[in-house]
Amino acid sequence: MNLKFLNNCIFPLLLIAGCAGSKLQLRDWTELPKEQYTIPPFASYLAPYKIALDAGHGGSSHLPGYKRGPTGKEEAAMNLNVAFFLKEFLEKAGAKVVMTRSDDRFVALKERNEIAAQAGCDFMISLHHNAADNPQVNYAAVYYHLHPDYSPMSMDLARQIYFGLVEALHLPQVANDGLLTDKLIYPDGFGLLRTSKIPAVLLESSFYSNPTEEKRLTKLSYNRREAYGIFLGLARWAAGGIPSAKLIQPAGISRDKKPEIVYEIADGITDRGGRGARQLLIYSQSASLKIDGKAVAAQMDMPNKKLHFRPDSALANGPHLLQVDLQNLFKNHNLPRVDTLVIAAPAASITFETPAKRLPADGTAMMPIRLKLFDAEQQPVWDGTTVQVQTNRGAIAPAKFQLKNSGAVAYYQAAVETGITQIIVTADNHSDTLLLELTPPGESRVLSGVIVDDSTEARLPTAMVMLDDSIRATTDENGGFFFENLPAGAHKLSVTARGYASENRIINMEANRSAVLPIRLQANLSGILHNEPIILDAALGGSETGDTFNNGVNAASANFELITRLADTLRWTGANVMLVRADQNNFPVQERIEKVNQLPGGWYLKLNYRKWEADSILAQSTIYPANRVGEQIATAINAAFAHLPRARTMLRQNTAVPEVNLTNKTALEVTIKCRAPMIVARDLPALFEGIVNFKRMANQEREE
Ligand SMILES: [Zn+2]
Repeated sequence: MNLKFLNNCIFPLLLIAGCAGSKLQLRDWTELPKEQYTIPPFASYLAPYKIALDAGHGGSSHLPGYKRGPTGKEEAAMNLNVAFFLKEFLEKAGAKVVMTRSDDRFVALKERNEIAAQAGCDFMISLHHNAADNPQVNYAAVYYHLHPDYSPMSMDLARQIYFGLVEALHLPQVANDGLLTDKLIYPDGFGLLRTSKIPAVLLESSFYSNPTEEKRLTKLSYNRREAYGIFLGLARWAAGGIPSAKLIQPAGISRDKKPEIVYEIADGITDRGGRGARQLLIYSQSASLKIDGKAVAAQMDMPNKKLHFRPDSALANGPHLLQVDLQNLFKNHNLPRVDTLVIAAPAASITFETPAKRLPADGTAMMPIRLKLFDAEQQPVWDGTTVQVQTNRGAIAPAKFQLKNSGAVAYYQAAVETGITQIIVTADNHSDTLLLELTPPGESRVLSGVIVDDSTEARLPTAMVMLDDSIRATTDENGGFFFENLPAGAHKLSVTARGYASENRIINMEANRSAVLPIRLQANLSGILHNEPIILDAALGGSETGDTFNNGVNAASANFELITRLADTLRWTGANVMLVRADQNNFPVQERIEKVNQLPGGWYLKLNYRKWEADSILAQSTIYPANRVGEQIATAINAAFAHLPRARTMLRQNTAVPEVNLTNKTALEVTIKCRAPMIVARDLPALFEGIVNFKRMANQEREE
């Protein structure tokens, strides 16, 4: 009844026209046409494509309320049924289909994308059905990632599929905007679309929260009808032909820094023959070339079907990403493709940097030699350049290597004869020589070495090495360090690195011999939190004091103390901790959100104490609904608090906390409700234990 009422409101003009006495009999739009599924001839243009079909959700049948309609029918099952029918239609048309799941099982979003990418799919269609609080709502929508320019080809698919759906399902309502950005749902869009390496769209074909629609969605005939609509949309897309651009020049590495770049253009239509086959069916203004993401003024040569560009200024040595976009007569875009153009002007000069100009000829002394290579215009050379190093006395390693940031480090070990040694470096038929003096042993001694992680053998750059409590050195990118002119006898060496137990040792320098030391450091907490980016925030601040506890402390300062202590503890483990509120002053919510959003990565934890007149404490974690990582962190923290005496925990999934709702990170708020904060004795250990256990679980999952 409700639906009928709604129809009359939405389509009154239609109904009036129908009653006006004309011979044309208009029927109710929501009346479904007779089932009639044929494969139209133009669907054969789908044949070259491999399509990933992703039936949303799965493996949650045991959860009572999870993604279910009013009578409990599961969205996951509807999605899968539609996927099976769509697969059948697509295969009949000759296309290849890869399903990300074909039964009721949980498949992580990342895994879904990997399945599609590894199978070499051209694009992915994710099949879902929608839910809303209002049971009347029922319309079709297709979601794209972020903005239309993100993936123009995805928009082509979205447009055709959308109308395919609308025409197939005859839903009572039509969305004002049938194509929707996934930013409406999550600040950084749907995880599936964000991490997809191929064009992808996500369909919310209709609302299973609408009782009538739920009933229809449980019928296989209706799932098949929906699949046919999507299929027709895809067939119409393919019938329009897909243009393409192929890089034909330069072929391979370019020694020229201003090479002419030529693409061969095809419109995806004229190859089929036909009357238009003599001309290129491309909108000439639509063709664009981007170099490293920046548009350049490329020229379209329509008669020769080529796109040309020659840079005015030299391109830097190294790889450059080229991307061509174009639109054919049917306004279809090419499949996105990135070509790599490597510019490699030959090396013309080499510079050397050494910590010392002379070494004792004791057969042990070792020193790093830092190289940097430049072309004839004094520009750094391409990192793919092969470099060879040799010496006439002593040893050098490695003898052959590739560069990083146009440079490299080789290690030279002194010979036992004194005199001048030559170190000859060769690249691209160019050689330069470094001369070093080898002095009689016993005149001086050097101490060098490398610092490594004891269990992973990873070399530790930026570790701090202190000699005799007075001379400091920082390890280089290879974990190496170097001290010269050491007197013979005992020396104290202290090594510290973030996330590692420090190491102190006494070394005895012999009179006639240098020393080379490998130093192994033990990772704190087995390195489980090494480099884990964590953003910590203390709620309130300044005049916003929050609750005042019986001991006179207010929530703002308790939050700040707990967060700064937690930051110190996490830094000890080697975590990469960022503090949002860095002092005791006011910090408006909007500014916090902006600060967090500007940080490059990590997950966000906001802490807040609340006063609670009870003998127990309550740890309450709030996450963004259905954020899986947020849920894992919150569950681990809650579990740690649950071990405490008289403790209760609660996990809330809602959008009520602005910092949780509006940051572009996995985010959670932990509220500790208690009679008085017990920072060191209770709350800090519980929070820390929770974070450690979250990482343990996350690592286990990755290993499985
Ligand atoms: Zn869904």
